[in-house]
Formats: sequence, structure tokens, C-alpha cells
Amino acid sequence: MDTKALAEYLFPDVKEMPQDVEARYPKRELPEGAKVTRIAPSPTGFMHLGNLYGALVDERLAHQSGGVFYLRIEDTDQKRSVENGVELIIQAFRNFGLVPDEGATLDGETGDYGPYYQSHRKEIYHVFVKSLVERGLAYPCFCTEEELSEMRAKQEANKENFGYYGKYAKCRDLTLEEIEQKIQAGIPYVIRFRSPGSIEHKIFHTDLVKGKLELTENDQDLVLLKSDGIPTYHFAHVIDDHLMGTTHVVRGEEWLPSLPMHLQLFQAMGWKPPKYLHTAQLMKIDPETGAKRKLSKRKDPELALSFYRQIGFPNISVLEYLMTMLNSNYEEWRMANPGEPMQKFPFNTKKMGSSGALFDMDKLMDVSKNVISRMSAAEVYEEVASWAEENDPEFAALFTRDPAYSQAILSIGRGGKKPRKDIGLWQDVKPYMSFFFDELFEPDYGQMPSLETNMVRQILKDYQSVYDPADDGSVWFDKLKEMCPKYRLCGDMKTYKKNLEDYAGSVADLSMVLRVAITGRAQSPDLAQVCGLLGKERVLRRLEQAAEHF
Ligand code: GLU
Repeated sequence: MDTKALAEYLFPDVKEMPQDVEARYPKRELPEGAKVTRIAPSPTGFMHLGNLYGALVDERLAHQSGGVFYLRIEDTDQKRSVENGVELIIQAFRNFGLVPDEGATLDGETGDYGPYYQSHRKEIYHVFVKSLVERGLAYPCFCTEEELSEMRAKQEANKENFGYYGKYAKCRDLTLEEIEQKIQAGIPYVIRFRSPGSIEHKIFHTDLVKGKLELTENDQDLVLLKSDGIPTYHFAHVIDDHLMGTTHVVRGEEWLPSLPMHLQLFQAMGWKPPKYLHTAQLMKIDPETGAKRKLSKRKDPELALSFYRQIGFPNISVLEYLMTMLNSNYEEWRMANPGEPMQKFPFNTKKMGSSGALFDMDKLMDVSKNVISRMSAAEVYEEVASWAEENDPEFAALFTRDPAYSQAILSIGRGGKKPRKDIGLWQDVKPYMSFFFDELFEPDYGQMPSLETNMVRQILKDYQSVYDPADDGSVWFDKLKEMCPKYRLCGDMKTYKKNLEDYAGSVADLSMVLRVAITGRAQSPDLAQVCGLLGKERVLRRLEQAAEHF
């Protein structure tokens, strides 16, 4: 077969040679050891946790080494692309502070290694396919869907491997005349790679996450170009990552089975493959079955990145949690360096787990409570205000009515060695502080301690004349103790515990009566501080309101 003639026949318009294209993609000038990574999502409109998980690794590897982190849009599958898909991708990553150095942008693209949209690279792919055809390493295949399923049935019956390979690759040996005839007859075709491999052979590969792997060599004549001339993922991956100078490919482990194909293609092209990191699948414990399973788009709202924003997890909490999943020593580092930005952590691929990464919402919540407890009241205020404006405008109006008031509430128990950890998500802020707003104050008097009703009423009445907003925490408590004898309550907890029968209750019950009356609930931050913020008038009003209830 005259493969040169075939190449010319199939691609008459392709005039460039591979070396012409390569000349436009010179080797990047970067410091020794600098890594070039990319995120290569498809604009399907759905951004998931896995995208972020991988992107975080990409960003860290590149930026930690003085390298480049770029964004390539894999839009070769038109059916799966949505109109604002690219915008969604860019915004989603940007929200999490992951800003690529080059690649697709909101209004086009930036960087010297583009185009960064695969849909704009058709000519480039054709140059390289043409050269493969010319070298006898690729050929047109006219097999129809029916023929392929017949082949599959035969393979099944013979208990043979599935796929287009060896003796089953019937278009491998068509003559130039046959090919010309079919094309002239308008029969659609794809271009396949002529695999030189055999499943009798093993190949060895070291993945930076999975470690040393022994894999079966590829023998499949995989499709390089689909019948519309658009490349498959496999081919585009090899061409793009080579030309764009990617040094490290971080991708989900679902791509591991196709790695032998990719390595073979790199070899056929005469190029050095990048290093690969196949990241573990994100798993969860199914709440119904208790079994570990993959996070699913259909069943698990938490797979969508938009979910975290909606319920108000700070982006930094999500990132922080993903880091704990990604590097086994991250938590330890965080404990030793509570104030440092995440970027100071020495990210290490050797610390990445090689199998199923378990995503645990409770753990994320804990991480988030810690993250939020380290923020200043002003920061929390800003975040809550902007979250609430988007998600709960009614609360936003109350919350931002008096910024100093809201910030003072958020300041209670903040700072110091043991900050309060009430808030894990912005959605929690409203229930946490609702009693500070009369509009949201819905007291649950059912929380009152079991004292006689008359006594509760009396305490509420009496306290109105004792209350002085000027009292500091200890004077405030001394006053409560002084009130105790009148109601046969014990002012000292130790004495009380030893002589339970002698008393109707203790000072703890008394303060609970006040807490429930003033905050409407049994749990609240420090009551003296709460009263200070509510102001005398409102405290008295709430005491009276409760007294009237009993
Ligand atoms: N478009 C592919 C995906 O979204 C990219 C995989 C890769 O990073 O190579 O899974």
C-alpha cells in the first residue's frame, strides 16, 4: 500500500508537516523542576467535586514549583457541551481561588500555547493524523455500527477480548482502490490507529499516585478521528499535552485503563509522555446501606460544586478539607500552623492515597467550623452578608441593618485559644443568632428547667429590678447567687450536689430560666455578653414577655 498516496488522498488540504506545528510550540522556558499542569474539563455545565479535587493538585504542583497551570477546554463532544459551560468552569474555579495562568478566559484565551479550545485545533490534529497515515500507523475504517456489534457478538461467542484489533480489524488491509471507492460512494469513516501491540505483552509504568504498575499492552486499533473529523479524547490528549508542554497529567483513575493506549500513541509519535497522576475516585458511605460507593451525580447533591455555595460552606473550608483528603499529613501541618495560608503547605504527591478517597460530610463540617472559628468577626460578617444576599435576602436585610451590631454578635467567643465553633456554614448563622433580632425571636419556653411555675414567674419578675447592664460577668453571676435563697435554690454547685434534698434547684436552674427567657433557647453564648448586646430595654421586655407566659 502506498501510504503516502493514501495520506494525500485523505487529507489533501493539510499542507503543514508535524515539524511546522511543533515549531509553533517551543519548549517552555521555566526553572529547573518547574511543573506544567492543566485542567481539561468538558463544558457540560456540571462542575463536580472531582474537578476541584484534581484542579487543586494541578494548581499546587505547578505553583509550588514555579511552573504553569493552564486551562484547556475539551469541547470535542458537541452533544455534551452547553452554551455557558466555559464560563461556569472559569467561575467555579475562580470562586475557589484557582486561577489558571493561561488558557481559556471569559472573553477568549490567553497564552502562547493555544488555541486552548480543542474545537479550534482541528487542523492541528489533522496534520498529525496525516503523518501517522503516511507512516502506515493509521488507516480509515468504514465499519458500520452493525458490523461492530456483529464483531462483538462473535467475540463473545468465542470468549475472546472485545474490540477492534488484530484479525478483527478488517479495514486494516483495504487497498487504496477499495478505500477510494468507498469514499467516493460517500461511506462515512473514522481514522484508526494501527496498534503494534499485543495482549501477550506487559508494559511497566510508574504512576505518581498509583505507584509501579504492570499493565497489559494495548492491541486495540483505537479511533483517532471520528467520522466528523473531530479527534477522540485519546488522540487529543496526546497531541495537546505534548504541544502544550504538560509535564504532569492529573486525572481521575477512570482513565487508567486507557493509559496503555496513550503510552503507545506517545511512542508512535516519538514523544516523551508526561508523568501521570491518576487520582482516587471520590467515595462516600451510603447512608442507607452503610457500604462505600462512588459519589453519584444522581444520588448525591454534594457532588456538585454549586451545592457548597448554596448551603454556604466557605470555599476555603472545602479546599481545606480536600487538602486533608489529598495529603495524609495536611491535618498535622494545619494544627502546627493554624494561621498560615494553605499555600505554605509543602504539597507532596507521595502523600496522596492511591485508593478510594472517602468524602465525609461530617468531617468537612468539622474542618469548616475550625476554619470559620479562625476568621475575624469582620470577615465572617462580609461572607455571611454576601451569601445571604444571594440565598436568603430576608435575613440579609436584618443582618446588614446594623453592621456593628451583627459584628459584635459574631465577636462573642471569637479569638483566643479556644474560640467558639458554632458555625460550620453560612446557613447556620441565621439559626445561631436569630434571637438577637426581634423579628426572628421565637422563644421556646418548653426549655425552662423544671421549677414550679410560680417560682419561674417570680424569678423573671424579680430579675427585672436586679438587672444592671453595667455588671460585668462576675458581678452578674454574684447577683444570681444572691437571689437563690429566696427560691430555695442553692447558690453553690458543690453544696447543692451534696444536699440535693434541701433545695428546689440550683443557681444553674436560675440562670437557665433567664437564658430561656432572654434567648428563647437552652443553649446560647455567654448570657452576660448576650444581654449587653441586646440592651437593657430589650432584656426587660423579654423577661416580662416570659413572665406573662407563665
Ligand atoms: N475532559 C476529560 C475529563 O473531563 C479530561 C481528563 C484529563 O484531565 O485528561 O475527564
